[in-house]
Amino acid sequence: MLVASLMLGGLLPMNARTRDHWGPSGAFRMPVGDPYQVYEDRPRTPGPFFIVRGVAWEGERASHQGADLGSGSAGALVRAAGSGVVVSAQDHGEWGGYGTHVVLAHRLPEGVLAYTVYAHLREYSPRVKAGECVQAGEVLGRVGETGHATGPHLHFEVRVARDPEERWEFARVEDPLAFVDARLPTYRADSTGIEANFEWAEYAGLVAPGARTEDVLTHGAWWRMIAAGVRGPALDPGLAPLELHDSLVAERMLWTGSGHTSGSPGQEIDWSELAHDLGRARALGVRTGPAPLRRARHREACTDVLGTPAPAAHVSALISREGHPTLGEAVMLFADLAGPAPEPAKPAAKKPVAPTPRAIAAAGTKPAPGTKPAPGDSLRRTPTATTAHRDTAGGKARKSQASATARRDTVTGKARSSTSSAKAAVRAPGDSLQRTAAKTAAHRDTLGAKTPKKPAASSVASRPPAPDSLRAHAPRDSTKRVARRDTSAAAPRAVARRDSTRTPPPAASPAATAADTSS
Ligand SMILES: [Zn+2]
Repeated sequence: MLVASLMLGGLLPMNARTRDHWGPSGAFRMPVGDPYQVYEDRPRTPGPFFIVRGVAWEGERASHQGADLGSGSAGALVRAAGSGVVVSAQDHGEWGGYGTHVVLAHRLPEGVLAYTVYAHLREYSPRVKAGECVQAGEVLGRVGETGHATGPHLHFEVRVARDPEERWEFARVEDPLAFVDARLPTYRADSTGIEANFEWAEYAGLVAPGARTEDVLTHGAWWRMIAAGVRGPALDPGLAPLELHDSLVAERMLWTGSGHTSGSPGQEIDWSELAHDLGRARALGVRTGPAPLRRARHREACTDVLGTPAPAAHVSALISREGHPTLGEAVMLFADLAGPAPEPAKPAAKKPVAPTPRAIAAAGTKPAPGTKPAPGDSLRRTPTATTAHRDTAGGKARKSQASATARRDTVTGKARSSTSSAKAAVRAPGDSLQRTAAKTAAHRDTLGAKTPKKPAASSVASRPPAPDSLRAHAPRDSTKRVARRDTSAAAPRAVARRDSTRTPPPAASPAATAADTSS
């Protein structure tokens, strides 16, 4: 799949850098509002996101190819539902009814390529660009109503690719809410540091779905963590463990010095081998983005779990440890390898000033995942803090990382060249200048409108009934009626509506372009 000449989703030329930084995705989250749930009906209190309209099928063809998620107003942050690479980020324009939109490609653990699509974004709000790798929860833009939209909402799609070079618009449509629902993380970031780090590991595909912190760390689980999180080729973490081991050894991603045993996949790994592999991972770099906790809490959590505030910096101290590490301890080590979340910017740094040419040139870049300032702790960050953070973090130059060359690609099994060209990933300088200026303008706009508008008689509530009258759920048609709804109707449901009675067809017709149906 990741050959140098590949055009991912029909749009993004793949290159060595993207290939090495693009980790698999594990868990997914909701792209707006509460990461773990959306309301099935419009809640009585404005704010939370609810399903305005779901995927609609006409036979095998999806006549509405995503879920429309609204909160009654525009401007809310739209975040990456999973870790992936930006295939396309359109700053503006009405293209195909999507308006301003972002498309991400995800390597699913089962070796499949999926796309998530975020449409009708506020004009100039996208903060990412094609070829960038993003982590689950990272801000992509803001809810708007560009394109064919009758009110502010996020049109969110999930598509599964049959062919990685096929245009994403032709990939098979899935119910995005059911897709996310089935992949929510087991752990939630709002508890202890251990759990926050574990949730992060789930998003990054470092651990298998359903894994627990107290699980023993088997060789198989550890190889998976290395394959997913260390920079290098796109090894499929779902490979048979021994095959994965051999690939990792061939790519020099595992330590193979004296004392190394290939072990059986189900056997516990010891601290010495773990520490040696960790040293190798440290040399290669990680592609997970920073860990979720900020520095002080991160150090505290490391101390709690491993007895030292910076365990990854002192791997030799781990070698002599007795016993066997747990999965939670390994995740903590990996989190320390990735580094703590960036600190929020100081309020003064938020003031938009006339950008200097140097600042403009630098603002278009984003630190490489795995380097300290890359934003990743997006779950708990406030919108303002995130904005400010991006401004400061964006100023750091990105450095291309040397990496192991890929010998094999398990997604397609094709051999690929190690001399991938990076030509097409380079943007024309004029382009980025223009884009940054526009970004700055949009940013200023955001700061000015700090107080969210009262979403009282919003356009979402008053929008006309959805055209797909075949759908069982009634469109929300009046604010008054919503206000009279009783509390039980407004209670948050367990995440996404599952249309269990309607199984999506195995393949939508390629003729079913989203162009006319993306509202
Ligand atoms: Zn829609």
